[in-house]
Amino acid sequence: MRLIIEARLEGGETSGTEATTVAVVERKDRSVADLGLTLAEGRALLAEVQSLLVSEQTAGWMERQLACDRCGSMLAHKDARSIVVRTVFGKVDVPSPRLWACSCAAKQGQPRRSVSPLCKAVHRRVTPELEYLQAKWAAHLPYRQATELLREVLPLDKGISFGSTRRRILAIGRALDAQIERDIASGPKAVSAEQLRESTTVGCVSVDSAWLSFSSSPKSRKAARDLAELKSPWAQNLPRDRHVSIVAGRATLADRTPRLFAYVHKLVPSAPARLDQFLFASGVAPDERVTVISDDAGEFGKAVDGSQLARGRILDWFHIAMKFKAAKNSVLGSRAIEPEERIAVETEIDHAKWLVWHGKSRRSASRIKSLDATLLEKEGYEHSTLYWNLGRLYFYIENNAGTLVNYRMRYHKGLPISSSIAESAVNLMVSHRMAKKQQMRWTDEGAHCLAQVRVAVLNEEFSVEKLAVLNKTSAAENSPSARRAA
Ligand SMILES: [Zn+2]
Repeated sequence: MRLIIEARLEGGETSGTEATTVAVVERKDRSVADLGLTLAEGRALLAEVQSLLVSEQTAGWMERQLACDRCGSMLAHKDARSIVVRTVFGKVDVPSPRLWACSCAAKQGQPRRSVSPLCKAVHRRVTPELEYLQAKWAAHLPYRQATELLREVLPLDKGISFGSTRRRILAIGRALDAQIERDIASGPKAVSAEQLRESTTVGCVSVDSAWLSFSSSPKSRKAARDLAELKSPWAQNLPRDRHVSIVAGRATLADRTPRLFAYVHKLVPSAPARLDQFLFASGVAPDERVTVISDDAGEFGKAVDGSQLARGRILDWFHIAMKFKAAKNSVLGSRAIEPEERIAVETEIDHAKWLVWHGKSRRSASRIKSLDATLLEKEGYEHSTLYWNLGRLYFYIENNAGTLVNYRMRYHKGLPISSSIAESAVNLMVSHRMAKKQQMRWTDEGAHCLAQVRVAVLNEEFSVEKLAVLNKTSAAENSPSARRAA
């Protein structure tokens, strides 16, 4: 049995053509061993149809470009060239003839130039859909895997490469980043109204930071060259640190859906402005304020302090409780403490914890300190885990006193006290895609660009339409006239 698939053109300016065979599928009669089209046959069929359609569309379009748009006379043919257009269904070679500019232009004293209409019209040589797919899957998977996945299901073959996927992320990440910076410049400003309210759209924001292994491999030097090619301002300052510090935050909206933001600390001109832009974009009104929950202060501490929309930062109750739990657990392993004494020490640690819960962190800290002092009389105590854990607990509470609040009161008012219920932003951003265990190494720029794309994808704010808008904006910014103006 043979299945012959034919394509026929009709309508428009084409006078109906004869059918072209696009695929022939052969199967042994009466066998269900190889049921249906194979992946390879499907890919070949799509590639064939795409090539036919693109060629026909561009040929039809070219016909209308052959006359001068001022005087209507036919333009002289200069030479035949072709360009390669990359689509989701494969690379297509299309003829792109060069024409001589009309003689009516020469009369105005301009030199005779040649024009290449198709080159100008499809100057990106890649369809937004393909760019979108490459970027979206590279936001979920390592570059190599994302490229292999697309090559396996689509007739892309040599149409995309590992390198082009990475460059795509760099270019789109940079465009997304520029969009955020433009929003910061033109966006709303917080009002210092007397009647400030707690935000009704954003229930809770948690911010955290993480370190990624730094890369200075040939690959990263390649990335630096790519950035230079893209005329990125980041290409100029490439002195290398040993780690990449990435900050990630997560807002829980009123309808319980999460919204994320992330950036590489070093590459952001103003971290507070970045946080405010994120909050505005999440729906916080200029007269509303949001409480930020975080672990021990990191790079983002200053961001929250400088933010206009953040009411302040409070220490995550989950992290506090974990510290107390660690101290309590180590009582059991301490040989310096008699079994009958254990309960008393444990109770004392519990008391200190409930003091923090009630917003009395100073009293909690002094209680831990005196417990420590009492235990110091025991022989061997200072070598025990309990000794270290109590010390760490004491300094943790002392150092974070400014961000400890009355958790009990917040809890009873129904206000958030911990971000642990939801998966942390850093986990979503970093562990799942840039994880240390995957032995991945990053440059500041690479991590920052990927973070912008990943955030857009996870927030469901990344689409072919959005990408088309971004491309248009960055093309306008990089146009010769825009560059002259700058
Ligand atoms: Zn003319």
